[in-house]
Amino acid sequence: MIVSSAFAGKRYAILGLARSGMAALESLHASGAELLAWDNREELRESVADKATIADPLTSDLTGYDAIVVSPGVPLNGQPIAQKAAADGVPIIGDIELFSQARNDLPPHRVVGITGTNGKSTTTALIHHILASAGVPSLMGGNIGVPILSQEPLPEGGVYVLELSSYQIDLTQSLDCDVALLLNISPDHLDRYDGFDGYAASKARLFDMLGSDHVAIFASADEKTRLALQGLRDLGRVQNIIDTSSAEIDGQADWPSLQGPHNLQNVIAAVATVEALGIAEEQWRPALESFTGLAHRMERVAEASGVLFVNDSKATNPASTGPALGAYPKIHWILGGLPKSDTLTECEPFYRNVVKAYTIGEAGPMFGKLLADKMPVESCEMILTAVQQAAANARPGEVVLLSPACASFDQFRDFEARGECFRTAVNSVIENDLIGTANSEVIQ
Ligand code: ADP
Repeated sequence: MIVSSAFAGKRYAILGLARSGMAALESLHASGAELLAWDNREELRESVADKATIADPLTSDLTGYDAIVVSPGVPLNGQPIAQKAAADGVPIIGDIELFSQARNDLPPHRVVGITGTNGKSTTTALIHHILASAGVPSLMGGNIGVPILSQEPLPEGGVYVLELSSYQIDLTQSLDCDVALLLNISPDHLDRYDGFDGYAASKARLFDMLGSDHVAIFASADEKTRLALQGLRDLGRVQNIIDTSSAEIDGQADWPSLQGPHNLQNVIAAVATVEALGIAEEQWRPALESFTGLAHRMERVAEASGVLFVNDSKATNPASTGPALGAYPKIHWILGGLPKSDTLTECEPFYRNVVKAYTIGEAGPMFGKLLADKMPVESCEMILTAVQQAAANARPGEVVLLSPACASFDQFRDFEARGECFRTAVNSVIENDLIGTANSEVIQ
């Protein structure tokens, strides 16, 4: 666990005792802070009663507290806790800010911060993998894996690789990354922001915290990423600004878990990051080959009868599904779920790669109409039906791809459950020898 003398004798209120909140509570308690804690769930409140005063911060007098620690799951726009914090004059922070404040007590280290709408986890895991392969002590934290404050501090020379959602950046005021990376910005999570501009501004704040001698990397050519890049250049404060949006790198065919134009963007950004940390090409190149990827992101689930099954359940918006369609030339595309938009604009450039689409979930009928004059479409409703139909139609060399371009909550608990359902369905079509069984009927 990370502890720090910076917290000793200070007072914090903690709202939300799920993973990051609980990690903050343990770390602050072990560091000698005085705590007030609250969660709507009684069992969580009870579990910390020996370490904190149990009271609802909304109805407690927080004057004189050093901060209110909230989990990134708590929306701040227009919420009572934001008003309460303002009324009592207390800043609202998250666990990444606590990590930042604890840094002085950690052995000398560096921090990489990664944000963007899509590709954060993949790029975080890739940077971590390259560093680990090069023998650099490294760990992943933030929006991925185990909360950062619960992890053991790295030895001297270590690199903390932090995936940062815009919610986490909103709760962070002092994190000066050695390398800050913005992958891309496309419309997402607009329910929690003041429009697309507010969301983009939240991501750009990562660079407001960057020291002038540190490195800023911008990976894509989308409008909001360009604006953030230009904004930082105009300020003239940060010296090392790297734009990788038109950089190139060869060898993608050798990286099985990094297929598609989006993963090329991620690789180029990851390489720029590790090179900024002093890693040489002979160290990073082999690591691209050995990277195994993350579950539910362009994950190769199985290959049978010459057909590859790919689980990209994490593609919850059209901007992440588009490049997935760019990854293979002949795709049976399973899409649908809870829609985030009524268009598939970012997918359109890749329609030529789709042999047939299979729609599922709430968005099914809407997508069916959108695609009807562009490609063959079958309405399947359920993932199992879609996998069965796609497998039956697939020929050797083709790919069955779940890349839904939608949230999962209409039919599943989360994108992981949707990906597991796909995996189960794939195993069942393989076991029952259903691949290619409809081929005589497929007329292209
Ligand atoms: P995040 O953590 O930002 O949600 P992930 O790495 O989990 O990103 O990937 C989410 C989805 O976006 C996956 O479907 C993945 O294939 C896709 N994706 C990955 N990198 C990019 C990128 N650079 N641009 C667009 N989509 C991407």
